Amino acid sequence: MYGLGVLRGMAITLRRAFTAPITVQYPEEERIIPLRARTNLTWFEERCTGCSTCAQACPDGCILVETSPGEDRSFNVERYEIDFRLCMYCGLCVEACPYEAIQAGGPLDDAAVVFDHLYRNKETLTGLAQRYLQEHGNVYPNGRKGPDRSSSTFRPES
Ligand code: SF4
Ligand code: SF4
Repeated sequence: MYGLGVLRGMAITLRRAFTAPITVQYPEEERIIPLRARTNLTWFEERCTGCSTCAQACPDGCILVETSPGEDRSFNVERYEIDFRLCMYCGLCVEACPYEAIQAGGPLDDAAVVFDHLYRNKETLTGLAQRYLQEHGNVYPNGRKGPDRSSSTFRPES
């Protein structure tokens, strides 16, 4: 029927006019972010084997992994760095990682006043990851249980 679309549109407008707004007055108010929201990238040192698959998968070349030989043909991860100045949050590194050591999730309000502070080294990434676990009941962004805090490899944030 001619004009039916207009009437439907008007009905939606009228209905919305009498419902409470869903906008949030950020930064005074903050929305509750779902646990598994893909808000950022977080790297978990305790899961990383240093295989460099993530670095090879990254189209921007913004992941640096440097290793040294460890025991039993493993690697010691000497350096792990992400250049968030270049990262486009495509998530290819997350998909490529065989050990779920880099996961989609983390701080939503990840702005920096100094641009170069978006280049993060292993220590900074580990601090952010451990803060994430502390704030989320020791659960990883993918919903799995976090590391055993009594383990010798787990280093709580100072
Ligand atoms: S999200 Fe994409 S651009 Fe960013 S580090 Fe991962 S692969 Fe590279
Ligand atoms: S984050 Fe994953 S893919 Fe990257 S070096 Fe560590 S284990 Fe390998």
